Amino acid sequence: MRDLYQIPVSEVRGVGKEKAAELAEFGIRSVGDLIEYYPFRYEDYSIRDLSQVKDGEKITIQGTLASDPVLQMYGRSKSRMLCKVVVDRFFISAVWFNQKFLKDKLSSGLELVLTGKWDQKRLQITVSETEFPGKRNANAGTLQPVYSVGGAITQKWIRKAISQALQQFGALVREVLPEFLLRKYDLMPRSEAISALHHPDGTEHGQRARRRIVYEELFLFQLKLHAFRAVNRSRTDGLAQQVDLPKVRAFVRALPFTLTESQKNVLADILRDLQEPYAMNRLLQGDVGAGKTVVAAAALYAAYTAGNQGSLMVPTEILAEQHKRSLDKLFEPYGIQTALLTGSLTDKQRREVLASLQMGLIDVVVGTHALIQEDVFFRRLGLVVTDEQHRFGVQQRSILRRKGMNPDVLTMTATPIPRTLAITAFGDMDVSTLRELPKGRKPIETYWVKHSMLERVLGFIAREAEAGRQSYVICPLIEESEKLDVQNAIDVHVQLQQHFPSLRVGLLHGRMSAAEKDEVMRAFKDNGLHVLVSTTVIEVGVDVPNATLMVIYDADRFGLSQLHQLRGRVGRGEHQSYCVLISDPKTDVGKERMKAMTETNDGFEIARRDLELRGPGDFFGTKQSGMPDFRVADLSLDFETMERARDDAAALVADSEFWTAAVYIPLRDYLQRQQLFEGDPLD
Ligand code: ADP
Ligand code: MG
Repeated sequence: MRDLYQIPVSEVRGVGKEKAAELAEFGIRSVGDLIEYYPFRYEDYSIRDLSQVKDGEKITIQGTLASDPVLQMYGRSKSRMLCKVVVDRFFISAVWFNQKFLKDKLSSGLELVLTGKWDQKRLQITVSETEFPGKRNANAGTLQPVYSVGGAITQKWIRKAISQALQQFGALVREVLPEFLLRKYDLMPRSEAISALHHPDGTEHGQRARRRIVYEELFLFQLKLHAFRAVNRSRTDGLAQQVDLPKVRAFVRALPFTLTESQKNVLADILRDLQEPYAMNRLLQGDVGAGKTVVAAAALYAAYTAGNQGSLMVPTEILAEQHKRSLDKLFEPYGIQTALLTGSLTDKQRREVLASLQMGLIDVVVGTHALIQEDVFFRRLGLVVTDEQHRFGVQQRSILRRKGMNPDVLTMTATPIPRTLAITAFGDMDVSTLRELPKGRKPIETYWVKHSMLERVLGFIAREAEAGRQSYVICPLIEESEKLDVQNAIDVHVQLQQHFPSLRVGLLHGRMSAAEKDEVMRAFKDNGLHVLVSTTVIEVGVDVPNATLMVIYDADRFGLSQLHQLRGRVGRGEHQSYCVLISDPKTDVGKERMKAMTETNDGFEIARRDLELRGPGDFFGTKQSGMPDFRVADLSLDFETMERARDDAAALVADSEFWTAAVYIPLRDYLQRQQLFEGDPLD
């Protein structure tokens, strides 16, 4: 049987060379691509009952003409034609604009189907489509697909092309889902579902087709992730690190606090992975302040006991320095050599660090992304710890592999992610979660106030300054315009300086150079500034324990998870900390969001509500989404299907038969074609 994805779209009758080239612009090259180009909505031509329709709606009705048409001309080409029509028990009028060619075909007593816009006041339909009895290509009673089109590809043309493709090649559509899953969920066969998505036999039929394709899409996506993981786990070209467990236990005992249960469990996961011969690919997620860094430190120490080097990659220099200092404190008693590798080293310093790394004189290196560059060589790299922004892709891994390294990788994220999204965005990783915060933390008190209370908020800032504490003021966010955000911050900075002549007020925004930003941050850290006015560039992970007040202007413009991250900048020391959200939200959802912030300090709870209120697209923000694009599935609607698909895929991959049995073969080609995920598990 021919493979639909190998047949060029030009083999469809009516698709010539030029049109084929146009279709390629839409990513449609093969017949398979064309028939999987699904409509994003339908035009409803089902015959409507006039007592059920609303003013302004586009409707289709069936009726009998009760008069001959009356034609009026305006100038040479414009016309208006009017007829009385009986529809059920209603007597309405129908009006045609500029369609005088229809005049001779219309006469009293004729029964026909009209589609157009309904005017409830005049009881009148403005007709756009007229269907005469006995015509075969009638739309009446159908749902017509609406595709995303443009350029030389028109709606009418693509409808025809897809119908033609289905007629010509529909019989070649192959099932990709295993039989037992079709039965389990009572899913339509693939060929039926594809043609029903284009031409549903009514709404219910369309929904069943959608359900089948959504499941297929999510299942195959999950299957690919799981296959990826399974293949990775079965590889033996990672390091089986000879961790000295008694030493690691001693390291943990020597910490100034006891690890939480969560921390212990996560560390156990990591230690197991380090010792296995596959390359660890694990995500460590935990709320701000949950104690991820100390877990990472213990892991780096474990790699050290195995005689391997470690590296910690962070987004900015200031964070690199901060982390190096805290690691030094923890590692000092063990004689571990650490180093910084950042952009601000001199050439000479950099050369020295690189040489020491290569000779194995440095055990743990902390730095920015400069760490994984071509000229950086390790003698024995065992563990890379990185953050979400530096998520380790297949590409980086292959760079390292080419250098003869295949280290274990631990990725940390402070954005707690609800399960559905985690299994989607991070589905190729093993996920460990820190669920509890260390004991004894003072919860941050959060208040939501209106703009009219600004004076009192400023008073609050002054009081904290008098008590020797520091405050952050985060400026309003103006969507899509960094420039305006910066202007805002500059304005607020000027205002606050004028308002507090005796306080030192600093300014931080994205248009400043890295060196300028570092300088301001350092001043704030060293308690040289009372107030720091900032856009959202204020980094995740920045640790200034003396800062106790976070003020956020126009808080309703931020996502909940972002607010939670910002709030996490305070509450890091011994003093009671506060977060003040200034906003006058106009919508109920906006008010709900502010309420949620004041009601809970739990990042997972916030993430859950955020997702509920905004949907997954916005949840991640557009930039760093890492979320795949599905053709039909929509994660805000198809959560549960995703969870089921994941369980099914996991079970299938775990079944050793999967890899040998016939189940796998038809899936493989399909999976390889669907580039839903960077890299291919099946290489
Ligand atoms: P995260 O990186 O998850 O935001 P950190 O690792 O920076 O959190 O931890 C925040 C603070 O809590 C640090 O000062 C750290 O020393 C401290 N800490 C970590 N784990 C514990 C624990 N189990 N008990 C008490 N304090 C802890
Ligand atoms: Mg390993």
